[in-house]
Amino acid sequence: MKNKKHLVKGIVINIQAIVILGFALNSFIPTLINFVSYKLYGTEKNVAIITLILWGIAIFASLVEMHVGNALINNYFSESTNNNVTPSVHEWKCPKCGKIHSNYIAICDCGEHKPNKQ
Ligand SMILES: [Zn+2]
Repeated sequence: MKNKKHLVKGIVINIQAIVILGFALNSFIPTLINFVSYKLYGTEKNVAIITLILWGIAIFASLVEMHVGNALINNYFSESTNNNVTPSVHEWKCPKCGKIHSNYIAICDCGEHKPNKQ
């Protein structure tokens, strides 16, 4: 069964992350240029450093968010393509996410271990 909620959630998360990333880069890059190009002292320097740290965290958070969003979207598409496929003798199917793997792969991308007997 395709879980459309995953797809919608993944897209919403990605849009959110892109908006945050846009705002963050819009502040981070000019501050970074200022910080590198001009010699800042005292309060100005401290404000610039705090700004860079805060927006740096925001950039990192939005990238992590994007990763989660993409995982949800990929999950939706791999679910739809793999669910009807039966693994061959040299393959196994992940009981958690339904991905097909070769026998020499012990752990699925989703973290699930290969079952002992199919
Ligand atoms: Zn899996």
